[in-house]
Amino acid sequence: MHIPTFIEKKRDGHELSAGEIAEFIRGYTAGDVPDYQAAAWAMAVYFKGMTAAETGALTRAMMHSGAVLKHPPGSPPKVDKHSTGGIGDKVSLILAPLLACADLWVPMISGRGLGITGGTLDKLESIPGFRVGLSEAETSAQLARIGVAMIGQTADLCPADKKLYALRDVTATVPSIPLIVASIMSKKLAESLDRLVLDVKFGSGAFMRTRADAETLSAALCSVGKECGVQTESLLTPMDEPLGHTAGNALEVWESVETLQGRGPRDLVELTLNLAEKVADVPRTQLASWLEDGTAWRKWVQLVEAQGGRASDTERILEIHRAPLEKDLCADRSGRLVKMDAESIGRACIALGGGRAKASDRIDFAVGVSGVMKVGTAVHAGDPLLRIHARDAERLVVALDSLQKATAIA
Ligand code: URA
Repeated sequence: MHIPTFIEKKRDGHELSAGEIAEFIRGYTAGDVPDYQAAAWAMAVYFKGMTAAETGALTRAMMHSGAVLKHPPGSPPKVDKHSTGGIGDKVSLILAPLLACADLWVPMISGRGLGITGGTLDKLESIPGFRVGLSEAETSAQLARIGVAMIGQTADLCPADKKLYALRDVTATVPSIPLIVASIMSKKLAESLDRLVLDVKFGSGAFMRTRADAETLSAALCSVGKECGVQTESLLTPMDEPLGHTAGNALEVWESVETLQGRGPRDLVELTLNLAEKVADVPRTQLASWLEDGTAWRKWVQLVEAQGGRASDTERILEIHRAPLEKDLCADRSGRLVKMDAESIGRACIALGGGRAKASDRIDFAVGVSGVMKVGTAVHAGDPLLRIHARDAERLVVALDSLQKATAIA
């Protein structure tokens, strides 16, 4: 296929055929189509969109770019959740082990940080030794043993998404509904799921800024899921302030451990349970008690150890990754906190080195923000609204610039 003509066709707003899309994805995965052509095509999709048929074809092409998990007959129901991305969203780290407590299999394929949003894989990789690159055979064996695996797109599984995801992250082509749908659903369909719940975010820290856009994205995601025989439901959830009290890779692992040990912040626990009950066969009260009585924590211990990490390291993750500079952002007057802007916090985390500006950038696991106050809280002048964790003074200054705009007290 002549790739410039293929790009041109989308640039000029024409519909691509399933065959053309499949050939492009095959070529891109194999390295025959270079990144610069894929980037130009992604930008054309960003501006011109895709029809439902094109989106379905792209999803299937990406899903079939690698292996599709095969589960043994008679194995428990396979379930998962996926978030469209937010700030401080560490739900997957809690939800995956929690669902496995309900005798479900959770073959979770996640992504890295994308745009200003954090990624489950980056958070997991802050745990020394934790391997997200399990092969298909290792994933299947681990599911049979402990019911949960948390992995990334690999050369085996969804390699097309692995490449395209990294490319979109650094070419301003993330917030495109067809690209998001194909990225999410190709990973989820490669897991051969029975049930899927989607957390579709809207607000300043989400790719969809308005509830109406999130509804459109949710409908597109659910329609591809159902078309492929997966029971798919979605929740629309706000992302105007970060979830929980932390944003940043190691800081979020710490908060996840707190939650798995029964000390989670209310918003994080609530959302985790809201999502879990959509795919679990057990009552919400049972799920909640597993977070409090150590059952979910013990499953996390099994998961971390199975993938090469040490659970004790996750309890001391803030000693392992400690940023040398810590600075509180304090209230300049008394009143009620009315804004803790997720987007500004996401941008600050990137400025601190917690995300990527180029595909080859290394993540600084230690940086981010903690103690993030929730909107609605009464504050006194001088109270800390959040704490910044920075590697050096230069980055701290840039992050502060973004954070000055993040808060408002009325
Ligand atoms: N999550 C994904 O896996 N892909 C996207 O494109 C956005 C969120």
